[in-house]
Parts: sequence; C-alpha cells; structure tokens
Amino acid sequence: MTLPPKVWNQSEFASFVPPRCISYYLACLELNQEEVRRAVIPGRDSNIQGPRDRRDRPLRDLRISVTDRCNFRCTYCMPEEIFGERYQFLPREEILSFEEILRLTRIMVPLGVSKIRITGGEPLLRHDLPRLIQGLRDTPGVEDIALTTNGTLLKYMAGHLHRSGLSRLTISLDSLDPEVFHLMNGGKLDVAKVLEGIETAQGVGFNAIKINCVVQKGVNDHTLVDLARYGRIHGHVVRFIEYMDVGTRNTWDLQQVLSGEEIVARIGESFPLEPLAPNYRGEVARRYQYRDGGGEVGVISSVSQPFCGDCSRVRMTTGGELMTCLFASSGTDLRGPLRKGASDDELGEIIRCIWLAREDRYSEERGDLVQADGEDGLARRGRVEMYQIGG
Ligand code: SAM
Ligand code: SF4
Ligand code: SF4
Repeated sequence: MTLPPKVWNQSEFASFVPPRCISYYLACLELNQEEVRRAVIPGRDSNIQGPRDRRDRPLRDLRISVTDRCNFRCTYCMPEEIFGERYQFLPREEILSFEEILRLTRIMVPLGVSKIRITGGEPLLRHDLPRLIQGLRDTPGVEDIALTTNGTLLKYMAGHLHRSGLSRLTISLDSLDPEVFHLMNGGKLDVAKVLEGIETAQGVGFNAIKINCVVQKGVNDHTLVDLARYGRIHGHVVRFIEYMDVGTRNTWDLQQVLSGEEIVARIGESFPLEPLAPNYRGEVARRYQYRDGGGEVGVISSVSQPFCGDCSRVRMTTGGELMTCLFASSGTDLRGPLRKGASDDELGEIIRCIWLAREDRYSEERGDLVQADGEDGLARRGRVEMYQIGG
C-alpha cells in the first residue's frame, strides 16, 4: 500500500520553518503524482527507496562539516590574506552540537542516507570528535563513516578514531616536496607531520587509506609522480583532484587546472596504467591500476568530466545549513527549526522537500553559465566556501 505524504497547509508549515523552506515545500507540491509516490518515506512501504530529486537521483551520502576552523591556510581553500587572525569564524553557539548532528543524521537515514563523511575546516580540531563518531556508529542505518583530514593531528588522534568506529580515512597531501607543500598550505606545518600521521594511522589499523592531492598547474604538478610512487610503496590509493572553482576567494583560474586526462598521462609515463571499473555507481574518482600490479590510483575530474548525473550527496555546514551542491550559493537552515522545537517528522519533511526540489548540476552547466555571465558573473552569483562544507 502506498501512503500519501503528509500535506501541511502553508500557515502550519510557516509556524516552524524559515521562509525559504516554504518555497521548497510549494515546489514539491507542484511535483507530479509519480514523483510524490516515490518520495514517500521508506519503511512505510518497502518498495520505495526514499525521495528522488528532480533528476531522479536518490539521497545516499551526507557530508558533515564539524568545524569551519583550520590550522592550514591552503591557498586554494582558505587563503591567509582573507582568513587571517581577524577573520570571524562561527561563534560556539551557532555551531551544531554533536547531539544535534546525530539527531539530524538519524532523521536522514529513512530518507536514504547510509554513508557519512566527516569533514571541515579541519575536523580533528573539533573537541572530542571520537564521541561523535561513536554516536554515528551507533545510529541504525549508518553503514559507512569516513573522515577527510589534513593529517596533522593524526599522530595523537588515529588510535581514538579507530576505536570509535571510523571506517575509512582520507588524508590530504598535495606534495611530498617540503617547499611546495608549505607554499600550498599557506606556510603552516611541515609535510613531515602529515607523513607521521599517515604512518600512525596505518599502524593503528586503518587499511586502504586514501590520499587526496589537489593539482594546480605550475604549482605542484611537477611533484605528482613522486606522490604516486609514495602511494605505490605504502599501499595507499592516491586520488588526484582537478583544482575546482569552489567558493569565490581563491582566485581560481581555468589556466591552473591540469585535466584528469593529463594527470593520468603524466603518471602513466612513469608507471603505466589501465582503467578499472567503478566500485559503485556514483563513485567520484575514476580508477586506474598500475599495470605492474603496484596498486591503484584515482582521478577526480570535476571540472573536465563532471559527474552530476549520479550525485547523491548532501552537505551540512558547521552552522546547520543543508546544501545540495558543492557550488550552491545558499542552503536551508535546519538549526533554526531544530532549536525552535520542530519534531523529527517535521524536520524530516523539510529535508525530504529540499531533496525533491533539487535540480543542481553546476559542474555540467558550468560551460553554459560562463558563456552567459562570464567567470566574474558566475562568481558574483555567490558560491559557498569549501571550508564551510568540506568538499
Ligand atoms: N581540512 C581537511 C582536508 O584538507 O582534508 C578537510 C576539509 S577540505 C575542504 C576537503 C578536501 O577538499 C581536501 O581534500 C581539499 O584538498 C579539497 N579542496 C579544497 N579546496 C579545493 C579546491 N578548490 N579544489 C579541489 N579540491 C579542494
Ligand atoms: Fe584547511 Fe582542508 Fe581547506 Fe586546507 S583544504 S585550508 S586543510 S580545510
Ligand atoms: Fe554534485 Fe553539484 Fe558536484 Fe554536480 S556540481 S557533482 S551536483 S555537488
């Protein structure tokens, strides 16, 4: 039996949600019956898999930014000139508590979420993070918990993270060359700290560690092969990421993007590669294996070969805004209704409506948008900053 979703009248809905949610809700009411049928929360009918957005994409992955602060100032993410000592990060009272994060996660599970990625800012700066991971681990329906970190605090934290139930670790490392590394992280900590962290993580039992490397032409592209070699020796999957136009503060320029294809060709010159099939639908990295059996490498070609068609990710900012795209100009505030006393059902309904109304495909549309407005025009529309939603 298919139950109809609850339909509120507008004043009922307006009593606990901010105005922009109402427009989402009204947009949802415009959806045709088939879309509404598919949107009914699963559990009421086992044939229904949770809401699908307007491009028929399910909701699967939740990325949670647990802090907007960081001990690096990567030039492509939080350049020091802007994020200097006087920069105002979110005050404590505006940051979601662990209990609030866990509650929202629990609400999103019946809507389809089963994979979580904890990110930031630098997530290991958040006090007592293993307690959150433990809570997520104890949340029925959460199958996989990953964390992206710059690795500098892993030496102290890796054991706690492993014991708390963290499934997977991704560590960002843009170059093994100390000078290039320093240049890219804004002159902060040394690459040796990160290498030490990776070693500790491996020692406490994290397997299949992934290394993320943002590639900037003319900055670190001459050091890619060294990093690939490091991955081969230590058994880590290095994933090279095309430099993306996330946010508006990193003076991004297309000229600085080395395409995934060029990256594969460069690595392949030293270590011949062959393509591998994706592990699952919607995997963001294209996988390659070394022909000599030296392991695997990945390329994330968000700029040159966008993958919006399978994008099942939603992102929650440190302050509790829900964003349906990495390049969104704004999100929907969940903290407001949550703290005003909205029930689980009401919060679930807001999130379901946001997903139903979702149309995002920024990277696929990018070319057309640039043609219409130019790069500057596109940036003027506004884009959330990477440190706020965590990649
Ligand atoms: N601080 C942690 C770290 O660096 O791993 C987690 C947050 S960071 C925002 C998440 C990922 O986004 C990192 O792997 C980082 O390299 C990547 N990133 C940040 N800005 C980027 C950009 N403009 N283009 C591509 N990747 C970017
Ligand atoms: Fe910090 Fe990560 Fe951004 Fe670098 S990429 S500034 S480490 S949040
Ligand atoms: Fe998903 Fe937006 Fe990235 Fe496309 S541009 S893959 S919709 S986050």
